[in-house]
Amino acid sequence: MKDEIIISGLKIFAWHGVYEEEKEKGQNFIVNAKLSLDTSLAGESDSLEDSVDYGKVCLFINDFMRINRFNLLEAVANQMARKIMVRFPMTQSVELEVMKPEAPIPLPFENVSVKITRSWHRTYIATGSNMGDSEDLIENAIANLDSDENCRVIRKSKMYRSKPYGGVEQDDFYNSVFCMDTLYSPIELLTRLQEEEKEANRERLVKWGPRTLDLDIIYYDDEIIEREHLRIPHVDMTNRDFVLLPLSEVAPYKRHPILGMTTIEMLGRLKESYVLTMKEEEE
Ligand code: ATP
Ligand code: CA
Ligand code: CA
Repeated sequence: MKDEIIISGLKIFAWHGVYEEEKEKGQNFIVNAKLSLDTSLAGESDSLEDSVDYGKVCLFINDFMRINRFNLLEAVANQMARKIMVRFPMTQSVELEVMKPEAPIPLPFENVSVKITRSWHRTYIATGSNMGDSEDLIENAIANLDSDENCRVIRKSKMYRSKPYGGVEQDDFYNSVFCMDTLYSPIELLTRLQEEEKEANRERLVKWGPRTLDLDIIYYDDEIIEREHLRIPHVDMTNRDFVLLPLSEVAPYKRHPILGMTTIEMLGRLKESYVLTMKEEEE
């Protein structure tokens, strides 16, 4: 279902632009916004609480545009789109067009504008720790992410124990998986997770060696990303019971975007070839 609330031709006097003159004198901007959300509840209840108040969205856009000063329309649109989704939590995605019909261009023209779409992305993150207060370190990182306005933790698995992976002699691991919606791009998310690892005093000494905190991106929507420093889905996830078992708790039927297999199917396949070393933590 894709319902939309549409605002068109909202006129705002503001001070964005690369040139000094634009920042001093200001000019008119026109904003079009499309908010995607599920309106079926409001459709039944007929109550504004179950929807997004477009009057408030207009005021919010007006305030945002008048309080801030950006050089580029791209920055206005990008940052405003994120703020709209944070401020109006029912919004699943926003399409924003910011127009500058009086831009300083020495030629006759009708309009210039930047149009973008931003949305919440569903991610699954695997955690691991075998140094320090592992359970606290993991819980702490998840809580920190949840209090970041660009992230919303949706579900968490239980904590599991696993034998170390990769042949390095070390303590058992604590592992879990959580599901989180985020406004960050994949690269921004990786950087944000690395901040949490740093905060937990993670030092990279030995590959696959002991660590206070490891946060790996398993899935980011159904995107397939093959970059030098970021590969999603996580390349080794199908060989790891300490990922698949907790993942089967939070997303049993989600399909791997390349293999087309559900978590349960991948776990079943792994069990056929491999003796699982995992034990569930006693509650
Ligand atoms: P593994 O990725 O096999 O579990 P690791 O977690 O021990 O190994 P790290 O030292 O934590 O390895 O990370 C090494 C690099 O992996 C990171 O700097 C990051 O750039 C890269 N990386 C690639 N894909 C991902 C991903 N999906 N999630 C997190 N990091 C990733
Ligand atoms: Ca890892
Ligand atoms: Ca890692």
